[in-house]
Parts: sequence; C-alpha cells; structure tokens
Amino acid sequence: MKLSLLTSAAILARKNLFAKNVKYADTQYPVMKGEPIVISTWDFGKEANAAAWEVLKNGGKALDAVETGVKVPEADPDNQSVGLGGRPDRDGRVTLDACIMDENSRCGSVACLEHIVHAISVARMVMEKTPHVMIVGDGALQFALANGFKKENLLTPKSEKEWKEWLKESHYEPWMNVENEHYHKANGTPGNEKNHDTIGMVAMDKNGDLSGACTTSGLAYKMHGRVGDSPIIGAGLYVDNEVGAATSTGVGEEVIRIVGSHLVVELMRQGVDPETACRKAVERIVARNPVAAKEVQVGFLAMNKKGEYGAYALQDGFTYAVRSGKEEKIYPAKHIF
Ligand code: ASP
Repeated sequence: MKLSLLTSAAILARKNLFAKNVKYADTQYPVMKGEPIVISTWDFGKEANAAAWEVLKNGGKALDAVETGVKVPEADPDNQSVGLGGRPDRDGRVTLDACIMDENSRCGSVACLEHIVHAISVARMVMEKTPHVMIVGDGALQFALANGFKKENLLTPKSEKEWKEWLKESHYEPWMNVENEHYHKANGTPGNEKNHDTIGMVAMDKNGDLSGACTTSGLAYKMHGRVGDSPIIGAGLYVDNEVGAATSTGVGEEVIRIVGSHLVVELMRQGVDPETACRKAVERIVARNPVAAKEVQVGFLAMNKKGEYGAYALQDGFTYAVRSGKEEKIYPAKHIF
C-alpha cells in the first residue's frame, strides 16, 4: 500500500514536471506588457490603426482593437479592395473574405460573403457564436442576416463602371493571366500602391496579448466563388500568443501554397526576427517558381511577442502602417525584385 502510494506520488510528480516543461516556442520571448502596438498592411492601414489605437490606448483588448480597426476600410466606399465599394468578381458580384484570430487561438472566418459591409464582424460572430471556424457563401449571408446584419448593395457606381470597362476586353482566360493583364495595363503590378488590396492587422494589447484580423474583397474580377488567402487561417492570418502573429496581402494563391502566415510565425518560433521571417516566406515563393514569382505581388507583415515588427514583399510598393505609444508611421517594405 505504502509502496503503491509512493509510486503514484512519483508518477504525479513526473507528470507535473513534464507539464512545466511543455512549451511551444523554442525561443521564449519575454512578454511585453503595457506597451500596446498595432500594425497593418498598406497606407490605408494608418486610418485603421488610428481606430484600433483608440481601443488599445484605453486598455482595450487586441481582439476588439483589430476588429474596430479593419472596419474603417470596410466601411469606406472609396477603398476598392475591402468591404463596401470593393471591386467585384467577373460576374459583377462583390464577394468578401475575412478572418479573425485571438490570443486563445479562437478563430472565425467567412468567405465569398455578399451584401454585408462588415465581413470581419460576421467572422468574429462565427468565432464566438458557432462551433465552427469557417462559413461561406449563402450560408455566411444567412448567418449574418439571422444575427442582425443589414443587407446592402456593396457595388458602388465607380466599381461598377470599372468592371464594365474590364468586361469589354475580358476573354475569360485562366483567371491569373487575365488578372495580371488587367493589372499591368491599368495599374501596374498587382497589389502595388495604386491597387492595394486587403487589410491585414495585428495588435498587441496592454496585457501583451496578440490578435489579428484580415478582410478583403479579394482580387478584382476573380472567378465567382474564388476564395483567396485572406479568410484562411494560417494563410492570410495566423496568431500564436506564445510567439507572434502574421498576415499577408497580394495574390492569395501564392500565399495559400506555402501556408504563408503560419510559416512566418513558425519561423519566428525558431528565433528569427519578424522581418527575416517574412523574407524567408517570400523567398520560399520565389524558390518554388522563380519565373512566376516575378509577375505577382505578395507581402507579409509580422509582429513578435516583444512587439518587434517587420515586413517583406516580392515586389516594390508594399507598405505597412505602425501605431504605438512611440510612433505613427507608414514604412515601405523591403522586397526581392
Ligand atoms: N490576398 C487577397 C486575395 O488573394 C488580395 C490581396 O491582398 O491583394 O484575395
């Protein structure tokens, strides 16, 4: 009896020992408490950051900050890459992709959602009110309407006019070629400063907790039903509260192929700084297909648990915005080509 009690005690002690030794990160970052910070993709991230900062500076949670922040471009009819006013697919339908993830690895996502301005809030509701992570298409619309979201026409006259112009030349070739043709003719490289797409945002709150959000109308004139990286947890966004968080923008197919944001976080887990992690992810796209990589834009943006941030892109033109107690700035990302 005594012996078996001793044995059980020994087993319990060993279990506790193991429990204490369990850690996700190979490099343990000191948690930066009390120094909130928010970063987001593109120049328009500045206004979004300002809204997120109001939440963070008043002691709010990173999750509330990122949702509040990305709602700014979602509601802006002049922003043709996110929410209201987003460029439609080739059938003239504005379809939105969005996802959100918090410090407890809770996540929610919607894809190919029509008629709802704040796709990010629907994604958050998927996270908080359903047993699921992702709801798409009609199901996502039904879910949104059942939860009080308003049905609206997201196609603005400006986006409709441009789409009709595009239709004149469109031959419905494989979408990537048609897409790039159009971009090159009209605006230059996809995702450059003239046709920036997608807001991806990552924030750290006063408790040192991380959350992220990503929302977009996706690539203009995509095939109806096409879903990019932005609503896919691990591709367009990933948060690991032990390590850091990352988000992406650009041609989503390239990001999905390398599960980009998760890759960036995993590289940071190995002790690499955010900019280097983003560079290595971008380099993986180049290594996979050096010729194709020259023709598309992809950018990654990341933050670690120390509140350090960095970005890297395939092409020139990717910018990101930072807001903290120390700075409010837009930076150009380094790039490969
Ligand atoms: N990543 C988005 C998509 O592929 C678009 C973009 O960021 O340019 O849908």
